[in-house]
Amino acid sequence: GEANTATTGGPRRRRVLVFPIPYQGHINPMFQLAGLLHERGFAVTVFHTHFNAPDPSRHPTYDFVPVLDGLPAGSPGTVAATVEHIFAINSSCEAPFRERLAALLEAPGGRDEVACLVADAHLLTLMDVARQQGVPALALRTGSAACFRNFMATPMLCDKGYLPASAESQLDALVRELPPYRVRDLMAVTGSRHEHDLVCKLLARAVEAVRTSAGFILNTFDALEAADLAATRRDLAGVPVFDVGPLHKLSPASSSSLLQQDRSCLDWLDAQAPASVLYISFGSLASMSGEDLAEAAWGVANSGQPFLWALRPGLARGAALPDGFAAATEGRGLVVGWAPQEEVLAHAGVGGFWTHGGWNSALEGACGGVPMLCRPCFGDQMGNARYVEHVWRAGIALDCGGVLERGAVEAAVRRLMRSEEGDEMRGRARELRSRAAEAIAEGGSSRRSVDKLVNHILSL
Ligand code: UDP
Repeated sequence: GEANTATTGGPRRRRVLVFPIPYQGHINPMFQLAGLLHERGFAVTVFHTHFNAPDPSRHPTYDFVPVLDGLPAGSPGTVAATVEHIFAINSSCEAPFRERLAALLEAPGGRDEVACLVADAHLLTLMDVARQQGVPALALRTGSAACFRNFMATPMLCDKGYLPASAESQLDALVRELPPYRVRDLMAVTGSRHEHDLVCKLLARAVEAVRTSAGFILNTFDALEAADLAATRRDLAGVPVFDVGPLHKLSPASSSSLLQQDRSCLDWLDAQAPASVLYISFGSLASMSGEDLAEAAWGVANSGQPFLWALRPGLARGAALPDGFAAATEGRGLVVGWAPQEEVLAHAGVGGFWTHGGWNSALEGACGGVPMLCRPCFGDQMGNARYVEHVWRAGIALDCGGVLERGAVEAAVRRLMRSEEGDEMRGRARELRSRAAEAIAEGGSSRRSVDKLVNHILSL
């Protein structure tokens, strides 16, 4: 190994352990971060569950350590089930992770080599396990800085009576303590008391994971969330915050997709007019009813707009696109099961993005210079849609309340793709793309944060 500075004498500890929580939107940024650290000279060990396990053959330079989780296959379908799933991952992995980590540390040179663990902020129990064994733990949160402020503010918002929201009429109230959110945009603004309590516990655990961490890593960049990042730093006094996003632009192309990406759609996009195509995707977890799917499809068909639709198997619980849709859109639409989304959103042929508003999607849309139509479903998606529409002013939020209606969809698509207002949104999205490019360029804010992160890890 390399010689260290005179102050500490020993060899530099240059192995980073990572433990993503096994959902696509969390796996991608963790692997991108790992790629970045690997480029900077760190060896990488990926701890992972059997549930949604990564494919080691696609990352030949990393070491992989499976951790027995005993979880059934298949993603949880509801908010409550997802939260329970996250708790179950924490508790069932605790003992096996302790054993695997101890074995790694006790192997020859192990303890001298390991610099830290970077875990998803939802894996508090596993961060505790690492600390108990003398390994510093950093937290990666894969949402926005604004969303994390929402996490931190939740107990106060409950005290003040914003949450749980009990009446429909409350939902449009502005949250004075957390602008520009309205009550409907908040995390934990859910139906049942049980669900509310579960979500509050989830958020409190993530905040604790971050507060007790040796460093907090966020997939965002300063020009996108300057005020929220500054407030986060202030509230987390003592914990260094590293805004290293957009990770997908800093790190070698992601090969951490759980589903096979259909790359043929890139050739199809090459043949389309600039900024003419609406790209549609609702991410890896969101689901919709067969009714909503049909309304979405007819809205898009009736808009006359060319489109590329990444229609994940299972999105509509087995329902297919309506009869007649293929014929009605013949020659101007392509439907694939799963797309290379980062590349699609960076493609010149794409002029708009209909998204569920997951943070990775919102970030990939903004960094692709593409205005968005957001139809949020749960979690941080409502808050992200609020930022897209109200702060970035680079898109339109579709009401997430009732069922979709084809006329409303058609009108929104026209507004986004073929109106002066839509062009202005596209202009602002392209402005965000430029800001993102500056952030990751030599001397840019994210590049400097990565340098600081590397030095920080070496100093632990
Ligand atoms: N994604 C993809 N192909 C698709 C749809 C999505 O590769 O057809 C990727 C997308 O690029 C993003 C991730 O899946 O990185 C979804 O994360 P996001 O936070 O947007 O939503 P989630 O799936 O967590 O709800």
